[in-house]
Amino acid sequence: MSIICPVCNGFYRLNLTCSCGSPLEDRGRLEDYAGPYSPYQGLKEDLFPEEETFESPEASCVHLMSCRDCSKDERVAVTQREA
Ligand SMILES: [Zn+2]
Ligand SMILES: [Zn+2]
Repeated sequence: MSIICPVCNGFYRLNLTCSCGSPLEDRGRLEDYAGPYSPYQGLKEDLFPEEETFESPEASCVHLMSCRDCSKDERVAVTQREA
């Protein structure tokens, strides 16, 4: 039994729209990014400002979404599930 992210595994795509109206592009898992986007460098407060919002951080695969038009970045926590 393993926990997988349905988005990473192609079960569905994130279809989100930026506040400017353009579609947000999925840049993949945030964990794949090094440096300033490192998930272990104080980002958790950013991602999970209220603990009750998410069941648990470990159960989520955080994707970085970005807008081509206005360069806005959005972090989206995808709930992982058992495979
Ligand atoms: Zn994922
Ligand atoms: Zn935008």
